[in-house]
Amino acid sequence: MFSELQLHERLLKALAELSFQQPTEVQQQAIPAAIEGRDLYVIAQTGSGKTAAYVLPMLQRLLQDDSKPLAPRGLILVPTRELARQVLKDIAALAQFTFLKAEQVTGGEDFKVQAARLRKNPDIVVATPGRALEQLTAGNLELTAVQTLVLDEADRMLDMGFAEDVGKLAEACPAQRQTMLFSATKGNRGLQRMIDSVLTEPQILEL
Ligand code: AMP
Repeated sequence: MFSELQLHERLLKALAELSFQQPTEVQQQAIPAAIEGRDLYVIAQTGSGKTAAYVLPMLQRLLQDDSKPLAPRGLILVPTRELARQVLKDIAALAQFTFLKAEQVTGGEDFKVQAARLRKNPDIVVATPGRALEQLTAGNLELTAVQTLVLDEADRMLDMGFAEDVGKLAEACPAQRQTMLFSATKGNRGLQRMIDSVLTEPQILEL
């Protein structure tokens, strides 16, 4: 039951509205560990419910946080624009009874329009690594207030040559942050390097 996962009532209300009755396996395991503040390395496939497994704890943390920084507190890196759009949709659904807002920062969109949207102070940014780094370098994306960093489909980001960009973005976030890395496949050397550099004593969940 979701009610056993100690989630905020506004999130439970959204889950009821979406008719999500039972947490999936990955949600059952990842949500309590994430709420404890642990870094996570999760091996899970698309379709497992992995998006809500990291979005719910991220929203939970934001709802409990009274600081009002003029910069995003959550950063989600994904390999493609299409996945970013899907994640954004999931956030909108799960955050529908909160005031929390997310913005998309992906390639193929007008750079200046995107910068203007970033100035509206979203709580969460969902981004592809290349464009996120460009906006960071241009001074339009501020990462010093990030409390939760998510690398979704990390194996695909590596395959697409984003390892260096992901590393730079992680370095621009505070060292004192929570990081959750999701991958559909188990680590080759590149993935292991990324895990070693961005995660701190992660709990490993293999589903
Ligand atoms: P994902 O693996 O994150 O791409 O999610 C796969 C699909 O499952 C999405 O359409 C979600 O909206 C849906 N979903 C996620 N969690 C649950 C749940 N606990 N109960 C029912 N559907 C869910």
